[in-house]
Amino acid sequence: MKRILIVDDKVENLYLLQSLLQGNSFSVVTAEHGAEALELARKQPPDLIVTDILMPVMDGFTLCREWRKDPLLTSIPFAFYTATYTDAKDEEFALKLGADRFITKPSEPQVILSVIQSLLENPRSATAVHDATGEHDINYLKEYNEVLIRKLEDKAEDLERKNAELRAIDIMKDNLLMNVTHELRTPLIVVRGYAELMKSERSGPVTEQQKKQCGSILENADQLLHMVDNLIFMSESSARRKSIRKVEDFSIGEVLATACDCVTTKALERNLTIDCDPAAIIVHGDRNEVLQAIFNLIDNAVKFTPKGGRISVHAVSSTDAVRVIVEDTGIGIAPEQQQRIFERFFQVDTSTTRQAGGLGLGLSIVREIAQRHAGRIELTSEPGKGSVFTLVLPALESPRP
Ligand code: ADP
Repeated sequence: MKRILIVDDKVENLYLLQSLLQGNSFSVVTAEHGAEALELARKQPPDLIVTDILMPVMDGFTLCREWRKDPLLTSIPFAFYTATYTDAKDEEFALKLGADRFITKPSEPQVILSVIQSLLENPRSATAVHDATGEHDINYLKEYNEVLIRKLEDKAEDLERKNAELRAIDIMKDNLLMNVTHELRTPLIVVRGYAELMKSERSGPVTEQQKKQCGSILENADQLLHMVDNLIFMSESSARRKSIRKVEDFSIGEVLATACDCVTTKALERNLTIDCDPAAIIVHGDRNEVLQAIFNLIDNAVKFTPKGGRISVHAVSSTDAVRVIVEDTGIGIAPEQQQRIFERFFQVDTSTTRQAGGLGLGLSIVREIAQRHAGRIELTSEPGKGSVFTLVLPALESPRP
């Protein structure tokens, strides 16, 4: 039984070739790179070698050169089987090094088998081999470098093409997300509108219990709307997000009250007390974005404060800044996590059994909204005791972004 040494760094390629050869009554030895192949062959020379080119430790070209220099191996037929080096120049170089055949991947099993058969039936003579390897080292290195550089250039082009494809797919994904979230927003606004209409009795009298039920619909719709708004914010391209959309003077107190209203029922269910101080302070910026940021902070305070806890939401102004402070007596955040929680999708608890819902987007959006208003977000927290998030916005008189 003829013994064939096959060399490839990809186990799945080795497996395929090995199965084909063993199924055709050859005995097979495998190696994962040139150096290993040389070592095995010197211990027990095979009847033929089939090798890949691009491999770690020692590539196929170097292996071929060493093979042809070694008197023990030089007359053993040598075939390349490659998917990467497919240029006519690569083949020319391979044959110059002393390879007998150059097969490109993938090839039909019949082609591989017939090449192997013909090489085994017509082994080369050691003398002919000597002639083929009689090249000067400098020439060899020059050509070898040229082949490698050509391959690197191909790879760089390939990577650039793949990057462009990935960027296009990324834009498509963002567009899809943006379309889906906008489509979700419209019916939610309708649901919210009717619930509000019924609760206010403008469409006819309702019982106290029905009013409560409408309140619950409103609150849940608001929660969903905030989640959808977070997704819309994230899906918008960074170019479009660079500047604030709508700039106006607005009352921060009204924004705090609106944000607190959205979590009233949720807080009641958890027996949490919310102290909301609707301070009469005017801020300059995009009201909806500031509301989104403050809602994200209050919603987190509710989510991460155990039953019976206390949440305080208030604003203070100084000459240069307005500070919105959201304080809770919740689980707190370990010092090593305090920077990371502002990263997109980062959540301290990623287990599937975690109680708090959420997408891990809220705080990254808070930080971005703060920065777009030339402000910042600050955090002090102690595990087991609670957290204080402070959204700092420039005061009305201070220079505008
Ligand atoms: P989400 O709340 O959707 O998980 P966020 O970006 O708003 O995403 O918050 C990221 C993580 O920061 C949360 O998952 C939580 O681990 C932690 N976190 C945020 N706010 C608080 C808080 N008030 N108390 C304790 N942990 C918090």
